[in-house]
Amino acid sequence: MLDNMPFRTLAHKGCTIEGYSRAAVQTYWRIPELKLGFDLGGQPWDFMGTPTWFVTHAHLDHVAALPVYIARRRMMKMPPPTIYLPEHALETVQQLLRVISRLDRGRLPCELKPLAAGDEVPLSRELVVTAHATRHTVPSLGYIVWERRNKLKEEYRQLSGPEIRDLRLSGREVSEERRLPVLAYLGDSSPEGLDNCPAMYQAQILIAEMTFVAPGHRKEKIHKHGHMHLDDFLERRERFQNERIIASHFSTRYDDRQIRHYVKKLLPDLLDDRLHLWL
Ligand SMILES: [Zn+2]
Ligand SMILES: [Zn+2]
Repeated sequence: MLDNMPFRTLAHKGCTIEGYSRAAVQTYWRIPELKLGFDLGGQPWDFMGTPTWFVTHAHLDHVAALPVYIARRRMMKMPPPTIYLPEHALETVQQLLRVISRLDRGRLPCELKPLAAGDEVPLSRELVVTAHATRHTVPSLGYIVWERRNKLKEEYRQLSGPEIRDLRLSGREVSEERRLPVLAYLGDSSPEGLDNCPAMYQAQILIAEMTFVAPGHRKEKIHKHGHMHLDDFLERRERFQNERIIASHFSTRYDDRQIRHYVKKLLPDLLDDRLHLWL
């Protein structure tokens, strides 16, 4: 292992969250079990094996490592990765890759796929990712990873195996798809991004941003710049149904001690110990 960039780890129900996120520094996350990652502000050497990425927005601290990642995979003879990104950024990122390719004299093979709010990306039979509008200073998307299963419809639950089989053979659709939000990733956003997407509050794991924590900040200004404050979490504490809530993307104006101090003062129970400060 080559330790080129920091990240920390949290395991929950068969998912390992690995990531790092500080505002204006760098943001990157991945979940090895789901074979996907979010944002490419940096790229730990170890993350290279993850083949599918979802970029929330084109601020440099969320995309700067995009060409680096593609080039590393080519160098290591891995298949070209698939990178989903907000549609408005597609052409410019393609231009960027062409320029870097010229400078570096190396190809950058990848599949760039544009997404808009409301789009769905089926990753496998069991997994689908949906894109959601968030509110930031540039066009941005949040993402939810759903586990989907085919379940027998309610009205057929009491039937026997052979009866169900006969119905199925007669062409009747006896099952329906059920979706469970496993993980939600907000990216950079004002609270609107959460409030407009109830599934973010229901996902087993929510990775959110909490850029500001100190009291006395003007909240309208923070929201206008597309970010969240600790107070926003307090105001919404009854809405979070998540089993784990990760608060990240803290501003560099705070050190770890200050962040813990402000959060513990306002949320002493850390939302029933579900809140994890990603420091
Ligand atoms: Zn950011
Ligand atoms: Zn940003």
